[in-house]
Amino acid sequence: MNTFEIIILDFILLIFPLLIYLIYTAYFKTLDLKKNNLYLDCALFSAYYLFNRLGIMTFNDIPILFIDVLLIIAYLKNKKISILVLSILFVLYYYNLFEISIFIFVIEYLIYFLIYKIFKTKDKFIFTNIFIFIKIIMFGIEMILSNNFDISSSIYMLFILLFFATTNFIIYLYTEIDDMFSLYRQIKNINKEKQITESLFKITHEIKNPIAVCKGYLDMFDVENKDHAKRYIPILKSEISRVLSLLEDFLSITKIKIEKEEMDLNMLLEDTIACLKPILNNKNIKFIANISDEEVYINADYNRLKQTLVNIIKNSKESIENKGIIKLYTKIGKNKIKIIIEDDGVGMSKEELEKIKEAFFTTKSKGTGLGTYLSNEIIKLHGGSLEYFSKKMIGTKVVITLPYNV
Ligand code: ADP
Ligand code: MG
Repeated sequence: MNTFEIIILDFILLIFPLLIYLIYTAYFKTLDLKKNNLYLDCALFSAYYLFNRLGIMTFNDIPILFIDVLLIIAYLKNKKISILVLSILFVLYYYNLFEISIFIFVIEYLIYFLIYKIFKTKDKFIFTNIFIFIKIIMFGIEMILSNNFDISSSIYMLFILLFFATTNFIIYLYTEIDDMFSLYRQIKNINKEKQITESLFKITHEIKNPIAVCKGYLDMFDVENKDHAKRYIPILKSEISRVLSLLEDFLSITKIKIEKEEMDLNMLLEDTIACLKPILNNKNIKFIANISDEEVYINADYNRLKQTLVNIIKNSKESIENKGIIKLYTKIGKNKIKIIIEDDGVGMSKEELEKIKEAFFTTKSKGTGLGTYLSNEIIKLHGGSLEYFSKKMIGTKVVITLPYNV
């Protein structure tokens, strides 16, 4: 192997686990910081291991220095435990190669720690190059102290240049990719914020409308006129309850609670259907409910489940543009029950299906994007699951699975 090949090989061994780490964290954008940190540790140690086992550690018997780049990354990322472990590993690594007093290396790695404390790592390139500078000096001292090496100053210079260039290149590559991914994450957050502002706007609008209607009626209200009272009060009541239920939805995003009790599943389904009559009573929509006669008692929150079913069936209704069918049926298993709602509405694309359970995701101009989110949270609190199967222009099938003890 010539020098060039050795460098390429070592370079790949060092960068490979880090690349996997970066791609992994970018792919699972929502991973929490703690887990990300753990994965970075793993990447650093795997790179060290790969380099140690498969890498060419010396060239003409002179150690190749750029393994230290792993420690630089640990410093740049302020990873205390990795810094400690890698420092110890490197002290032992160089001690093995040079066969001089171990204290030299202990001092060397303490110096790096001191620089880290003094300069911090805000400017990545300043820190990296101070690190490189000290490494070069210490490397010279260690070479002189050790009698194992006999090299000319020109080769020494070549090595230093090589070390300087590769290390800077790896750090450059690493920070570029890291920056790119953090930018990508920020963009996602901005989009999320935009969605939230839009939803707040919609919610405000939704609340404003019924209140404006109420005000209109109150303006016309003649207290002496009994007929007015009879006609207007029910309208006022229904407008106010619309506002209240919307506000309730909005509030419940942050604190969804359920109170379980023994309840009759069939009663819940019949009650829900009765409640939805006004919106399903449409000659273009055929609603087919197939509820088994079998008596099923489950331990659940009656009102919350009703809210969930109403949300889902309403979405089915809204997905039907002209004519369509909505089916509701149950499947009773040994230790779980399934409530299934099917429609032949507009369906969803793969992208929409992926986002369906996110708060504020909506494709409707007057939607809030909270229905599915809340439903999912409610079912999760019951220890069950909410699944969506959908195809664009074909329809959607929603399966609620709940635990059930016979
Ligand atoms: P909203 O109904 O206010 O839009 P939801 O959380 O209830 O909010 O639904 C989010 C989005 O999921 C809807 O805007 C719609 O695009 C999609 N969706 C939900 N259910 C269905 C369905 N049965 N068919 C087609 N799309 C659906
Ligand atoms: Mg909805």
